[in-house]
Amino acid sequence: MGPVTARRLASLGIGTVGELLEHYPRRYEDFRERRLLADLKLGEEATVRVILERIALATTRRRGLQVVRATVRDHSGVMEAVWFNQGYLATTLEPGTALSLRATLRHRGGQPSLLVRGHDVVGDGEEALHTEGVVPVYPAGEEVSARLLRSLIHQVLPLARRIPDPLPVAVRRAADLPARCDALVCLHAPHDVQQGWRARRRFIFEELFLLQVGVLVHKAAAAARLRAPALDGAAPLSGAFVRQLPFAPTADQRAAVEEISTDLARETPMRRLLQGDVGSGKTVVALHALLRAADHGRQGALLVPTETLAAQHLDTVASLAGDFVRCELLTAGLGAARHRAAVDAVASGEAQIVVGTHALLQERVRFHDLAVVVVDEQHRFGVVQRDKLVHKAAHAGRVPHLLAMTATPIPRTLALTLYGDLDVTLLKAPPAGRRPVHTEVLAEGDRQRGYALARHELDAGRQVYVVCPTIDESESVTTAAAVAEADRLREGELTGYKLAVLHGQMRPDERRRVMTAFKAGEIQALVATSVIEVGVDVPNATVMIVEGAERFGLAQLHQLRGRVGRGAAPSTCILFTQAPTEQATQRLLALVRSSDGFELADRDLEIRGEGHLFGTRQSGLPDLRVARLLRDRQILLAARKAAQGVVATDPLLRQAVNRPLRDAVRDAFGGQLAWVFRA
Ligand code: ADP
Ligand code: MG
Repeated sequence: MGPVTARRLASLGIGTVGELLEHYPRRYEDFRERRLLADLKLGEEATVRVILERIALATTRRRGLQVVRATVRDHSGVMEAVWFNQGYLATTLEPGTALSLRATLRHRGGQPSLLVRGHDVVGDGEEALHTEGVVPVYPAGEEVSARLLRSLIHQVLPLARRIPDPLPVAVRRAADLPARCDALVCLHAPHDVQQGWRARRRFIFEELFLLQVGVLVHKAAAAARLRAPALDGAAPLSGAFVRQLPFAPTADQRAAVEEISTDLARETPMRRLLQGDVGSGKTVVALHALLRAADHGRQGALLVPTETLAAQHLDTVASLAGDFVRCELLTAGLGAARHRAAVDAVASGEAQIVVGTHALLQERVRFHDLAVVVVDEQHRFGVVQRDKLVHKAAHAGRVPHLLAMTATPIPRTLALTLYGDLDVTLLKAPPAGRRPVHTEVLAEGDRQRGYALARHELDAGRQVYVVCPTIDESESVTTAAAVAEADRLREGELTGYKLAVLHGQMRPDERRRVMTAFKAGEIQALVATSVIEVGVDVPNATVMIVEGAERFGLAQLHQLRGRVGRGAAPSTCILFTQAPTEQATQRLLALVRSSDGFELADRDLEIRGEGHLFGTRQSGLPDLRVARLLRDRQILLAARKAAQGVVATDPLLRQAVNRPLRDAVRDAFGGQLAWVFRA
């Protein structure tokens, strides 16, 4: 093809024959039936084979459209055929040409006339690609028509045989799937629509299979090669920590601590996901794991996504374990001198627990003896970043244990896929005494009711959050709006109460000062941007006001709501809205009805369609192109089983039969699995 077509295809992400062949049809049209001109019914679309007798270009008088008018005939009769806006046809189609037309019969000024939607030249036994048989309809682009895609794909289809099949024959047979080349032919040129959909099933399987194999190979490689320090035996620090907690751990917390302690006592590196809804008490479990490292004179690190959360965790460690461990904060926002001191303390091993942001991942940060890594809010990190600290601390075949934590509730099938390389522990029940947060959606006219409730709580000695939405994706515009809102409230509805602002553009130490003051109750109402979304924990806060709630996603709102309802007192979440869309209204209603994160996650999927779920980019996993995790749950499970079988016998895909599979997995994961296959 020429450079112009190539450039146009590139706009659809198509750069190779393989990519062209993997441009999956959106649907099929069944044009198998052919009619005679004399048998056509008014208003009906049909395919006819005709000979072109005359053709000419005209322009409509009223609207200046280009109209090509032709006379066509078959042995049953003669008729006029009309094309709109394809003037070039008047000069490219010559009288006498055999055509196949997909067209609709209509009446024009009492005369029957065919309005042509598609045509093929069919002399010399040429195939009627666009008008006969089962016609695939491709997702097209602004510059690439479905017609062009159909022609190009048809042209390269014979090359399908040269593309290796990543599915091992045994897997393919067991799952009753066609070979790749056959499936490609059926996908793009099926005899009937069913055949096309059956072929697609093979690609769904393939996609999910490659995903699972990648995840499992990653896990196997980590386990095969690496050893972690066995943290068993005496528990002077972690034991003391549990004994002096100001509350009794829940049964789920005790079970999680138990399970994790067992993992840590082994030489196989722990790779575990601790999943628990907001407020379920994951931090205590994490601290226990970190203290198991300290029990052995080794280090533990807690990686978090935001400075605010880092500062808060530091406070938590100080208050719950400050008497017996030295904990260091390491973030980008520290002043140069403090930063250097922290880096030194980490390198010398003086710092037993290190809490930090991405700054922990920097080259110059060296650990003395890191044995346990905890990643909080791990969905905020990609798979690769999540493991970075582990690999960074690896030396002489030794790596730290890994505990990843998340409050993002995801359906089980998704968890299998996304976190297939991790074992999962759940914290199901929240600590005793928690009450569900009462949630109200208030439209513009009802705002005063919301503020009255906030004042009522403030007067009772409680605290309030007001969260402003992100505007235009811009940090500075968002900040300005939050600052303006705080000023407005100070003069207006919340006059006389102590108010402060918290936003992402404040210096970290300033932010920390504000959070500390809020925690201590010196600030009564905190007007914030969504920087407080994750992790922030102030049990005395009982009101969460969300401005412009329609701008937030469901998961985000659930997180925000999780900032209240953390103490014994009943809490309220007030969602202010202005002209929400239909979708936004559904989200807000879902939130009012349910406080169960898992239920909300399912609902969110339904409302948004799973395509948007994770921004798979962020999860570090390959994008899914044909598969849909929920719809294709059954195929996912079959693919997972098959993947387990393959990886069990050939963990690093070294066998010759698995070479195409290895290449496909490596490609699917971009550079991320390179380290696995390099050796
Ligand atoms: P998350 O799982 O969202 O990270 P946190 O670990 O921040 O939750 O815990 C939420 C709050 O619950 C904190 O104030 C914490 O001290 C408190 N908490 C944790 N475990 C218990 C418990 N067993 N009983 C009472 N309060 C608890
Ligand atoms: Mg947390």
